[in-house]
Amino acid sequence: MLPQEIIRRKREGDVLSDAEIAFFVKGIADETISEGQVAAFAMAVFFNGMTMDERAALTRNMRDSGTVLDWKALGLDGPVVDKHSTGGVGDKVSLMLGPIVGACGAFVPMISGRGLGHTGGTLDKFDSIPGYRTAPTLEEFAKVTREVGCAIIGQTADLAPADKRFYGIRDVTATVESIPLITASILSKKLAAGLDALVMDVKFGSGAFMNEYERARELAQSITEVATRNGVPTVALLTDMEQVLGDTVGNALEMREAIDFLTGKHQEQRVYDVTMALAAEMLAVSGVATDVADGFQMAGEALESGKAAEVFSKMVSSLGGPSDFVEKHDKYLEAAPMVQVVKAAKTGRVLSMDARKVGLALVALKGGRTRADQKIDFAVGFSDFIKVGQPVSAETPLCMAHTRDQAQLDEATALLRDAIEIGEGEVAQTGNAPAVR
Ligand code: URA
Repeated sequence: MLPQEIIRRKREGDVLSDAEIAFFVKGIADETISEGQVAAFAMAVFFNGMTMDERAALTRNMRDSGTVLDWKALGLDGPVVDKHSTGGVGDKVSLMLGPIVGACGAFVPMISGRGLGHTGGTLDKFDSIPGYRTAPTLEEFAKVTREVGCAIIGQTADLAPADKRFYGIRDVTATVESIPLITASILSKKLAAGLDALVMDVKFGSGAFMNEYERARELAQSITEVATRNGVPTVALLTDMEQVLGDTVGNALEMREAIDFLTGKHQEQRVYDVTMALAAEMLAVSGVATDVADGFQMAGEALESGKAAEVFSKMVSSLGGPSDFVEKHDKYLEAAPMVQVVKAAKTGRVLSMDARKVGLALVALKGGRTRADQKIDFAVGFSDFIKVGQPVSAETPLCMAHTRDQAQLDEATALLRDAIEIGEGEVAQTGNAPAVR
């Protein structure tokens, strides 16, 4: 087989066979296919798309390009389920979701990522806990998941290495925004993590990777179908990222919000709705609950009884964090030296929010990164964040800014006032959309 013939067929809009896709993916992984050829292939797929069969074959072959975890062999004798989010601003849902679902009897070995650009990353939030190991050995990861119910870490094994090279080439050739390629990229890594079931949180709106609802829905449909064809039952929720999710943005601040949520001190409504909906779906799709309604019931009990907070606490201490972290988190989490109100400076109503700009304001404070190798400041960020639709006067706080100095505060104030539209007109429609099953 010749790579150029496969590229030519895709360029002409032909449907590739399993064997052709397997050959091409092998060549991506072992680098026998050149960067130029991979780029040309990506561009051909970008313009001509792929059938569901082709997407499923691409995903499967990329999954098999590296290690595929086998949880049964690692001693997990119950359903193994995870959630993947396409990324948001203020999205701390995994911090509560993993422990809630783990407390209900499923195993949640959650492999999460770091933030890049405007979207935050779950792993960075755990890095704000002193001592917490986000890169344990595979055996330790399995042991904590088995004994506690949930472990949230970064990538350990060599999962889907073909995606690493393929994504790197797509990133510099303007071919990331292809639904078949995004489907295979996300799912190859998730399927290599050896799950029995998966729930996707596909976000839409100003702070989402896929801004437009229709495109987000198309991605959700593609992912659910391709994952299910590859033997992993998957449900996708489409959730609103037209505004910050919850009250806080910033790593240590989001960790505090998550602990307040788990301990029942404060549960912001939108965070509650997304977390419980995802938990209910995870419990239903993995077979731990009889259906979604039963899943809601189980998740509610795990939260209210304090069991989920206990799982979170055990997970933290088992992975090297303080044993009294939940009770004494203020002692352990870094805090910024300046906490000041950011005032609206206008009168009216919050008509809309550009959540992407809020995420970039955090990057400006060095609480997020623009390059994968940058270090971040866990302490900075925003709390008490205003919501779309709220009435404001010039003196109303948009949020509290947690900064290192006055210069940062001034910069954050300017960026947030630009991100939050205030006026007398129509308030933007927000809210979650129906699931894709
Ligand atoms: N995230 C991924 O992992 N892959 C993509 O292609 C896009 C987003």
